[in-house]
Amino acid sequence: MKIGVLGLQGGVYEHVYMLRRAFEEEGVQGEVVVVKKPAQLKGLDGIVIPGGESTTIGILAKKVGLLDPLRDAVKEWLPAFGTCAGAIVLAEKVTDKVVGEKKQPLIGVMSIEVVRNYFGRQRESFELDLDIEGLDAPFRGVFIRAPAMVKAWGGARITGRIRHNGDEVGVVAVQGPHLATAFHPELTGDTRLHRLWLRGIKA
Ligand code: GLN
Repeated sequence: MKIGVLGLQGGVYEHVYMLRRAFEEEGVQGEVVVVKKPAQLKGLDGIVIPGGESTTIGILAKKVGLLDPLRDAVKEWLPAFGTCAGAIVLAEKVTDKVVGEKKQPLIGVMSIEVVRNYFGRQRESFELDLDIEGLDAPFRGVFIRAPAMVKAWGGARITGRIRHNGDEVGVVAVQGPHLATAFHPELTGDTRLHRLWLRGIKA
């Protein structure tokens, strides 16, 4: 298998490290590469879009000519796993908790509505044990200025939720081969979500 990590901004190498460990644990032969140019999309079996700053990732992707080819690839044949800002980039609809509707370059392949910075200032960063469909035991979620998934339709499904100020919101979503998390599974040393995604896209 060949998995790419979009390497324009954010926690790129944390995912490279986690994927290499996940390969070993799953007995997968292959390589993990950092993707910075459109030509590097060719031959990939999946791509991870890391956390960071979704506006910056989108703007940089556009600047280097990656946004359109990446969008086409993910819509047509390339499975994606987006974490935090990466989940925002994958969403069809994005708003911001403070400034409302946002115009930012997106891939928009998952039928989810995401609210950026959902948890606001008081809870900019926090950790929580999460029950996630497909995992046998709770997963420690590290949330850093995290978004929340407030709506899913069509082929998308919310598979992990948390309660915040009395509302239940999504923090994990799945749509076909695509996976999105509002938190950072690459920061806890727990490879189960990377492995879950890899298992789902293995031929
Ligand atoms: N708040 C960031 C954004 O809106 C995401 C933060 C993160 O990826 N840790 O893009």
